[in-house]
Amino acid sequence: MPSNSEAVLKRLANEALRVRRNVWRALHAAGAGHVGGSTSAADLLAALYFHYLNLRPEQPDWPDRDRFVLSKGHANAALVAVLAQAGFFPDSHLDEFYGYRTLMGMHPDIKLGGVEMSTGGLGHGLSVGVGMALGGRLQKRGFRTVVMLGDGELQEGSNWEAAMSAAHLKLADLTAIVDYNKIQQSGHVQDVLGLEPLADKWRAFGWSVRELDGHDMAQITAALDALPFAPDRPSLMIAHTVKGKGVSFAEDTHLWHQNTVGDEIYRKALDELGEPL
Ligand SMILES: [Mg+2]
Repeated sequence: MPSNSEAVLKRLANEALRVRRNVWRALHAAGAGHVGGSTSAADLLAALYFHYLNLRPEQPDWPDRDRFVLSKGHANAALVAVLAQAGFFPDSHLDEFYGYRTLMGMHPDIKLGGVEMSTGGLGHGLSVGVGMALGGRLQKRGFRTVVMLGDGELQEGSNWEAAMSAAHLKLADLTAIVDYNKIQQSGHVQDVLGLEPLADKWRAFGWSVRELDGHDMAQITAALDALPFAPDRPSLMIAHTVKGKGVSFAEDTHLWHQNTVGDEIYRKALDELGEPL
Protein backbone atom coordinates (compact mmCIF):
# COMPACT_ATOMS: atom_id res chain seq x y z
CA MET A 1 0.00 0.00 0.00
CA PRO A 2 1.48 3.38 -0.92
CA SER A 3 2.24 5.55 2.06
CA ASN A 4 2.24 9.29 2.07
CA SER A 5 4.53 11.25 4.33
CA GLU A 6 3.35 12.81 7.55
CA ALA A 7 3.94 16.22 5.98
CA VAL A 8 1.67 15.42 3.04
CA LEU A 9 -1.07 14.06 5.29
CA LYS A 10 -0.82 17.07 7.59
CA ARG A 11 -1.09 19.48 4.66
CA LEU A 12 -4.17 17.66 3.36
CA ALA A 13 -5.79 17.59 6.82
CA ASN A 14 -5.21 21.30 7.03
CA GLU A 15 -6.91 21.84 3.66
CA ALA A 16 -9.85 19.72 4.90
CA LEU A 17 -10.12 21.90 7.99
CA ARG A 18 -10.12 24.96 5.74
CA VAL A 19 -12.92 23.37 3.68
CA ARG A 20 -15.00 22.88 6.84
CA ARG A 21 -14.41 26.42 8.05
CA ASN A 22 -15.26 27.74 4.58
CA VAL A 23 -18.45 25.64 4.45
CA TRP A 24 -19.66 27.25 7.67
CA ARG A 25 -18.52 30.65 6.42
CA ALA A 26 -20.44 30.30 3.15
CA LEU A 27 -23.56 29.01 4.85
CA HIS A 28 -23.37 31.76 7.46
CA ALA A 29 -23.23 34.26 4.61
CA ALA A 30 -26.25 32.52 3.09
CA GLY A 31 -28.06 32.34 6.42
CA ALA A 32 -28.73 28.62 6.04
CA GLY A 33 -27.77 25.56 4.08
CA HIS A 34 -26.51 22.02 3.84
CA VAL A 35 -23.97 21.68 6.63
CA GLY A 36 -24.10 17.91 7.20
CA GLY A 37 -23.30 16.50 3.78
CA SER A 38 -20.83 19.28 3.01
CA THR A 39 -18.69 18.65 6.07
CA SER A 40 -18.86 14.84 5.83
CA ALA A 41 -17.26 15.15 2.38
CA ALA A 42 -14.55 17.67 3.36
CA ASP A 43 -11.63 15.26 3.80
CA LEU A 44 -12.45 13.43 0.57
CA LEU A 45 -12.67 16.68 -1.38
CA ALA A 46 -9.42 18.00 0.07
CA ALA A 47 -7.63 14.79 -0.91
CA LEU A 48 -9.13 14.87 -4.40
CA TYR A 49 -8.24 18.49 -5.14
CA PHE A 50 -4.88 18.67 -3.40
CA HIS A 51 -3.58 15.16 -3.98
CA TYR A 52 -5.31 13.32 -6.84
CA LEU A 53 -7.04 15.34 -9.54
CA ASN A 54 -4.94 16.68 -12.40
CA LEU A 55 -6.30 20.20 -12.92
CA ARG A 56 -5.28 23.68 -14.05
CA PRO A 57 -7.23 26.25 -12.02
CA GLU A 58 -6.02 29.01 -14.34
CA GLN A 59 -7.42 27.05 -17.32
CA PRO A 60 -10.63 25.38 -16.06
CA ASP A 61 -11.56 24.06 -19.52
CA TRP A 62 -8.19 22.41 -20.21
CA PRO A 63 -9.29 19.41 -22.34
CA ASP A 64 -7.05 16.86 -20.59
CA ARG A 65 -8.11 17.77 -17.05
CA ASP A 66 -9.52 15.12 -14.77
CA ARG A 67 -13.27 15.41 -14.30
CA PHE A 68 -15.01 15.63 -10.95
CA VAL A 69 -18.78 15.57 -10.59
CA LEU A 70 -20.43 16.31 -7.26
CA SER A 71 -23.57 14.27 -7.83
CA LYS A 72 -24.78 15.04 -4.29
CA GLY A 73 -25.07 18.64 -5.39
CA HIS A 74 -26.60 19.90 -2.14
CA ALA A 75 -23.04 19.76 -0.74
CA ASN A 76 -22.11 22.65 -3.01
CA ALA A 77 -20.71 24.72 -0.15
CA ALA A 78 -17.90 22.18 0.17
CA LEU A 79 -17.29 22.16 -3.56
CA VAL A 80 -17.01 25.93 -3.88
CA ALA A 81 -14.82 25.98 -0.76
CA VAL A 82 -12.31 23.53 -2.19
CA LEU A 83 -12.42 25.19 -5.63
CA ALA A 84 -11.66 28.56 -4.04
CA GLN A 85 -8.84 27.04 -1.99
CA ALA A 86 -7.42 25.47 -5.17
CA GLY A 87 -7.43 28.87 -6.88
CA PHE A 88 -10.29 28.58 -9.37
CA PHE A 89 -11.78 31.89 -8.20
CA PRO A 90 -11.28 34.44 -5.44
CA ASP A 91 -11.85 33.36 -1.88
CA SER A 92 -14.21 36.33 -1.41
CA HIS A 93 -16.83 34.54 -3.54
CA LEU A 94 -17.59 32.40 -0.48
CA ASP A 95 -19.08 35.47 1.19
CA GLU A 96 -21.65 35.67 -1.62
CA PHE A 97 -23.14 32.23 -1.13
CA TYR A 98 -26.82 32.25 -2.18
CA GLY A 99 -26.27 35.84 -3.29
CA TYR A 100 -28.51 37.38 -5.90
CA ARG A 101 -26.88 37.23 -9.37
CA THR A 102 -23.92 35.19 -8.19
CA LEU A 103 -22.97 31.70 -9.33
CA MET A 104 -22.81 30.64 -5.66
CA GLY A 105 -26.12 28.85 -5.28
CA MET A 106 -27.49 26.02 -3.21
CA HIS A 107 -26.36 23.65 -5.96
CA PRO A 108 -23.36 23.64 -8.34
CA ASP A 109 -23.60 25.83 -11.44
CA ILE A 110 -21.65 24.73 -14.51
CA LYS A 111 -21.07 28.37 -15.43
CA LEU A 112 -18.66 28.61 -12.49
CA GLY A 113 -15.06 27.76 -13.42
CA GLY A 114 -14.13 24.29 -12.15
CA VAL A 115 -17.70 22.98 -11.96
CA GLU A 116 -18.22 20.15 -14.46
CA MET A 117 -21.96 19.63 -14.09
CA SER A 118 -24.95 21.45 -12.64
CA THR A 119 -26.19 18.92 -10.10
CA GLY A 120 -28.71 18.86 -7.29
CA GLY A 121 -31.43 16.83 -8.91
CA LEU A 122 -30.14 13.56 -7.42
CA GLY A 123 -29.27 10.41 -9.31
CA HIS A 124 -27.83 11.91 -12.48
CA GLY A 125 -24.13 12.47 -11.77
CA LEU A 126 -22.96 8.92 -12.29
CA SER A 127 -24.66 8.63 -15.69
CA VAL A 128 -22.94 11.80 -16.84
CA GLY A 129 -19.68 10.52 -15.37
CA VAL A 130 -20.06 7.38 -17.48
CA GLY A 131 -20.38 9.63 -20.53
CA MET A 132 -17.31 11.65 -19.54
CA ALA A 133 -15.22 8.53 -19.02
CA LEU A 134 -16.39 7.03 -22.31
CA GLY A 135 -15.66 10.34 -24.07
CA GLY A 136 -12.16 10.38 -22.63
CA ARG A 137 -11.54 6.90 -23.92
CA LEU A 138 -12.91 7.65 -27.40
CA GLN A 139 -10.80 10.82 -27.60
CA LYS A 140 -7.75 8.94 -26.24
CA ARG A 141 -7.20 11.71 -23.69
CA GLY A 142 -6.45 9.54 -20.70
CA PHE A 143 -8.07 11.73 -18.08
CA ARG A 144 -9.77 10.22 -15.01
CA THR A 145 -13.38 10.82 -13.99
CA VAL A 146 -14.52 10.84 -10.36
CA VAL A 147 -18.14 11.10 -9.21
CA MET A 148 -19.14 11.67 -5.61
CA LEU A 149 -22.46 10.15 -4.59
CA GLY A 150 -24.56 10.56 -1.48
CA ASP A 151 -25.85 7.52 0.32
CA GLY A 152 -29.47 8.64 0.24
CA GLU A 153 -28.95 9.38 -3.43
CA LEU A 154 -28.33 5.68 -4.09
CA GLN A 155 -32.04 5.10 -3.55
CA GLU A 156 -32.49 6.59 -7.04
CA GLY A 157 -32.65 3.73 -9.55
CA SER A 158 -30.77 5.69 -12.20
CA ASN A 159 -27.52 5.13 -10.26
CA TRP A 160 -27.83 1.42 -10.80
CA GLU A 161 -28.39 1.79 -14.53
CA ALA A 162 -25.22 3.87 -14.67
CA ALA A 163 -23.34 1.32 -12.55
CA MET A 164 -24.39 -1.47 -14.88
CA SER A 165 -23.34 0.54 -17.96
CA ALA A 166 -19.95 1.49 -16.52
CA ALA A 167 -19.07 -2.14 -15.83
CA HIS A 168 -20.33 -3.27 -19.22
CA LEU A 169 -18.12 -0.63 -20.86
CA LYS A 170 -15.15 -1.60 -18.63
CA LEU A 171 -14.57 2.02 -17.65
CA ALA A 172 -11.48 1.63 -15.49
CA ASP A 173 -10.89 5.40 -15.61
CA LEU A 174 -14.18 5.98 -13.78
CA THR A 175 -14.29 6.10 -9.99
CA ALA A 176 -17.32 6.65 -7.81
CA ILE A 177 -17.02 7.66 -4.17
CA VAL A 178 -19.94 7.15 -1.82
CA ASP A 179 -19.95 9.64 1.06
CA TYR A 180 -21.51 7.07 3.37
CA ASN A 181 -22.58 9.20 6.33
CA LYS A 182 -25.62 6.92 6.92
CA ILE A 183 -28.06 9.84 7.17
CA GLN A 184 -30.26 11.53 4.60
CA GLN A 185 -32.58 14.51 4.75
CA SER A 186 -35.32 12.90 6.81
CA GLY A 187 -33.46 10.37 8.94
CA HIS A 188 -31.16 7.37 8.89
CA VAL A 189 -30.74 5.82 5.46
CA GLN A 190 -31.25 2.38 7.00
CA ASP A 191 -34.73 3.40 8.21
CA VAL A 192 -35.80 5.28 5.08
CA LEU A 193 -34.68 2.76 2.45
CA GLY A 194 -31.65 0.67 3.42
CA LEU A 195 -28.65 0.11 1.15
CA GLU A 196 -26.91 -2.85 2.75
CA PRO A 197 -25.10 -4.97 1.75
CA LEU A 198 -23.79 -2.01 -0.21
CA ALA A 199 -20.33 -3.29 -1.20
CA ASP A 200 -21.77 -6.62 -2.32
CA LYS A 201 -24.32 -4.86 -4.51
CA TRP A 202 -21.65 -2.86 -6.34
CA ARG A 203 -19.46 -5.94 -6.73
CA ALA A 204 -22.42 -7.79 -8.20
CA PHE A 205 -22.76 -4.93 -10.68
CA GLY A 206 -19.16 -5.50 -11.80
CA TRP A 207 -17.29 -2.83 -9.86
CA SER A 208 -14.07 -3.17 -7.90
CA VAL A 209 -14.79 -1.96 -4.37
CA ARG A 210 -12.74 -0.68 -1.44
CA GLU A 211 -14.14 0.50 1.89
CA LEU A 212 -12.35 3.11 3.97
CA ASP A 213 -12.66 5.68 6.73
CA GLY A 214 -13.55 8.88 4.87
CA HIS A 215 -11.98 11.03 7.57
CA ASP A 216 -8.62 9.22 7.69
CA MET A 217 -6.36 11.01 5.25
CA ALA A 218 -3.86 8.13 5.12
CA GLN A 219 -6.63 5.71 4.09
CA ILE A 220 -8.12 8.17 1.59
CA THR A 221 -4.84 8.90 -0.16
CA ALA A 222 -3.84 5.23 -0.16
CA ALA A 223 -7.12 4.36 -1.90
CA LEU A 224 -6.76 7.19 -4.44
CA ASP A 225 -3.16 6.17 -5.14
CA ALA A 226 -4.32 2.58 -5.78
CA LEU A 227 -6.83 3.57 -8.50
CA PRO A 228 -7.96 1.86 -10.60
CA PHE A 229 -8.49 -1.06 -8.23
CA ALA A 230 -8.76 -3.42 -11.22
CA PRO A 231 -7.52 -2.89 -14.78
CA ASP A 232 -10.81 -3.56 -16.52
CA ARG A 233 -13.50 -2.43 -14.07
CA PRO A 234 -14.79 0.87 -12.68
CA SER A 235 -13.75 1.51 -9.08
CA LEU A 236 -15.91 2.32 -6.08
CA MET A 237 -14.72 3.83 -2.82
CA ILE A 238 -17.21 3.42 0.01
CA ALA A 239 -16.09 6.13 2.41
CA HIS A 240 -17.55 5.76 5.89
CA THR A 241 -18.11 9.27 7.19
CA VAL A 242 -19.94 11.26 9.86
CA LYS A 243 -22.57 13.74 8.80
CA GLY A 244 -21.70 17.21 10.11
CA LYS A 245 -18.15 16.07 10.96
CA GLY A 246 -16.09 18.48 13.04
CA VAL A 247 -18.77 20.31 15.04
CA SER A 248 -20.36 18.35 17.90
CA PHE A 249 -23.91 19.67 17.70
CA ALA A 250 -24.09 19.06 13.94
CA GLU A 251 -22.63 15.56 13.95
CA ASP A 252 -24.62 12.44 13.13
CA THR A 253 -28.07 14.00 12.97
CA HIS A 254 -30.45 14.65 10.11
CA LEU A 255 -31.37 17.95 11.79
CA TRP A 256 -28.17 19.37 10.34
CA HIS A 257 -28.72 18.02 6.84
CA GLN A 258 -29.88 21.56 6.28
CA ASN A 259 -30.34 24.22 8.93
CA THR A 260 -30.05 27.93 9.65
CA VAL A 261 -26.60 29.31 10.45
CA GLY A 262 -26.85 32.48 12.53
CA ASP A 263 -24.06 34.45 14.17
CA GLU A 264 -23.98 32.49 17.44
CA ILE A 265 -24.04 29.10 15.73
CA TYR A 266 -21.29 30.22 13.36
CA ARG A 267 -19.07 31.39 16.21
CA LYS A 268 -19.55 28.09 18.07
CA ALA A 269 -18.77 26.09 14.93
CA LEU A 270 -15.52 27.94 14.24
CA ASP A 271 -14.51 27.63 17.91
CA GLU A 272 -14.93 23.86 17.76
CA LEU A 273 -13.14 23.49 14.43
CA GLY A 274 -10.15 25.52 15.50
CA GLU A 275 -7.74 27.50 13.39
CA PRO A 276 -5.94 26.06 10.36
CA LEU A 277 -2.17 26.07 10.41
MG1 LIG B 1 -26.07 10.89 3.59
